[in-house]
Amino acid sequence: DAYIEFRNVVKKFDDFVALDHVSLQIPKGAFVTLLGPSGCGKTTLMRQLAGFSEPEEGDVLVDGKRMNGLPPFKRNTPLVFQEYALFPHMTVYENISYGLKLKKAPKEEKDRKVAEMLEMFNLQGLDGRFPKQLSGGQQQRVAFARALVMGQEILLLDEPLSNLDAKLRVEVRTELRQIQQKFGITTMYVTHDQDEALSMSDIIAVMRRGRIEQIGSPWEIYFRPATRFVADFVGTVNFLEGTAHREADGSLSVDHRGMRLRVDEDTDLQGGEPVTLVVRPEGISLMGLEETVPEGTALRGTIENYSFLGRMIRYWVRVGEEVFVIDDANVDLTGARTGDVQLRLDTRKLHV
Ligand code: ADP
Ligand code: MG
Repeated sequence: DAYIEFRNVVKKFDDFVALDHVSLQIPKGAFVTLLGPSGCGKTTLMRQLAGFSEPEEGDVLVDGKRMNGLPPFKRNTPLVFQEYALFPHMTVYENISYGLKLKKAPKEEKDRKVAEMLEMFNLQGLDGRFPKQLSGGQQQRVAFARALVMGQEILLLDEPLSNLDAKLRVEVRTELRQIQQKFGITTMYVTHDQDEALSMSDIIAVMRRGRIEQIGSPWEIYFRPATRFVADFVGTVNFLEGTAHREADGSLSVDHRGMRLRVDEDTDLQGGEPVTLVVRPEGISLMGLEETVPEGTALRGTIENYSFLGRMIRYWVRVGEEVFVIDDANVDLTGARTGDVQLRLDTRKLHV
């Protein structure tokens, strides 16, 4: 029951294939994020829905209706860009009601709808201000209000927070997510920022070179990446190359450089296949050499470097020819660990 659907969408610029048979389904009320590096086709995909560009092949549907060929204003899919430029010579009221004015809506309708929007985006009392009298976050919220004032149920956001400084970005994203959930606005969001994607989304679609590599919840994308690219793009990661092994009792382990490591994940592997183990920096903890750990859950290494981040310490630990990245949230008040350590693997967080 998709509300927005892309079916096998192909978009070319001359010989260059910007979208290569992209299919994506977005349920009503969901917050879906397109995540991927610059140039992978995120904006291009969103423009196919907004109507600013037409695909060579495939369909774009909203609520079961084919949108292909319809001009943007008939699609009810307002798009907010990175450069959310409000009209500088107009007040908040005039900015928000601009679309209604074009429609020649009567004053009481404008007043009512602007008031609704001001309340929705927590901008009460600011209707008489000009954009330059607002903070960056407030300006951003006015831009959202302007996009939704015509009663649209879909909001398209193309990197809307990238002009805000880091702290404000976190504030506005929390606020935006709350509003989106409260009003059930189906939202398609574009970003190249993994934190933004993980923290806001119901569903993330990771894109690469005009294709979607994986669609899943933030948890699936983070802990169960389908490809090396996804694992690497969505945060820091350690890869351990090895060979799958089925124990007599049916449990799975992976042989890695002479060690047999236990794995909890359910897979179809028979044993004998070459595999890559994926583990996030917080899926490994550091322990002293004297501490005992269950067999098959730890490697030995030497701390090479660290970086103190306050709430945690990031360590780089050498194990033979490899260097593991480990985030230790168990921070001592006086300093970091040094020397030889055990790397205890959280078997639940190992992904084959
Ligand atoms: P993203 O938003 O993921 O950074 P875009 O969707 O903007 O990427 O672009 C995807 C690719 O398509 C890029 O390589 C870009 O150069 C190319 N592209 C986008 N729009 C055009 C256009 N109008 N003409 C030619 N190439 C384009
Ligand atoms: Mg873009």
